[in-house]
Amino acid sequence: MSKRDYYEVLGLEKGASKEEIKKAYRKLARKYHPDVNKDTDAPDKFKEAKEAYEVLSNDQKRAQYDQFGHAGPQQQGFGGGGFGGEDFGDIFDMFFGGGRRRDPNAPRQGNDLQYTMVLGFEEAIFGKETDISIPKEEDCETCHGSGAKPGTKPETCQHCNGTGQLNVEQNTPFGRVVNKRVCHHCNGTGQEIKEKCPTCHGQGRVKKQKKIHIKIPAGIDDGQQIRVPGKGEAGVNGGPSGDLYVVVQVKRHEFYQREGDHIFCEMPITYTQAALGDEIEVPTVHGKVKLKVPSGTQTGKTFRLKGKGAPNVRGYGHGDQHVKIRVITPTNLTERQKELLREFNELSGNEPMDENEGSFFDRVKRAFKGE
Ligand SMILES: [Zn+2]
Ligand SMILES: [Zn+2]
Repeated sequence: MSKRDYYEVLGLEKGASKEEIKKAYRKLARKYHPDVNKDTDAPDKFKEAKEAYEVLSNDQKRAQYDQFGHAGPQQQGFGGGGFGGEDFGDIFDMFFGGGRRRDPNAPRQGNDLQYTMVLGFEEAIFGKETDISIPKEEDCETCHGSGAKPGTKPETCQHCNGTGQLNVEQNTPFGRVVNKRVCHHCNGTGQEIKEKCPTCHGQGRVKKQKKIHIKIPAGIDDGQQIRVPGKGEAGVNGGPSGDLYVVVQVKRHEFYQREGDHIFCEMPITYTQAALGDEIEVPTVHGKVKLKVPSGTQTGKTFRLKGKGAPNVRGYGHGDQHVKIRVITPTNLTERQKELLREFNELSGNEPMDENEGSFFDRVKRAFKGE
């Protein structure tokens, strides 16, 4: 099934503001909410809008989507969302402006994690597969996340009778006011752990170094990121895991510079090569390439080596390598070399030999004379 563009789903332009995205989603959520709309395709429409909103309202996910579309590198794409425990809570908060206390025992998605990976210039061009180790919060294996010592169970909090809330009475000039507060004995969970799990000390969660296999797509560039769904921190109360974002930093190269899929470099040649023409060898990330430099080549002249740039990260072919020529003026000449050059100068009448350059020198001369 091919997915519709998220902007199209919400009926927005690509540069839409956060406010516009939220507004468009609210409208669709109201229209297609399964409690309201009994059409058979309403749940799908609702899900589609929710997924689009989840991605476009999250800066990281949106940047990733704008860059890679639905597929993304590694075809990992964007998670489907679905009807998790939080869905209706989110909608509720959006419609009624929040204020409602979240149920602390409701499933919650784990936090997203970010990891910065430094790549060499050529590693970014060719991509690589590697294992990274990141500290992650996971459900404790000893107590399976309950926080209670194996063989025991969390008990109903006696202070709030399991409601997670306490009534607080306050005397005010208007009379007695009863407020509900989160029970601080159980932090609103309604449960008390009498005997704590020895591994996690009642937290239900432990920090672990996790090894994750990462596939860096060929052609990735500095600042781009890869989303690995479900590899963030574990969810709470059975909620889904967060995502892992790998942000790529590419080291500079001493010879090559990269701009998108194109690679730029500068090649020095001798002025004899420039004057007489020659075939030179140019390094590229794909190996040496022969380049014909025609006679009369000037400094700054750029040649294009087609397809010798970086591969496009989305798989659309390769960029080119652009080779800028720099003619090196000889230094430390021997007497004999100097003699020959003077002779050369006599022969050329102390004038530049090239016609176009000649007119350029004429302009310089006129400038000296103040014409
Ligand atoms: Zn309590
Ligand atoms: Zn534990």
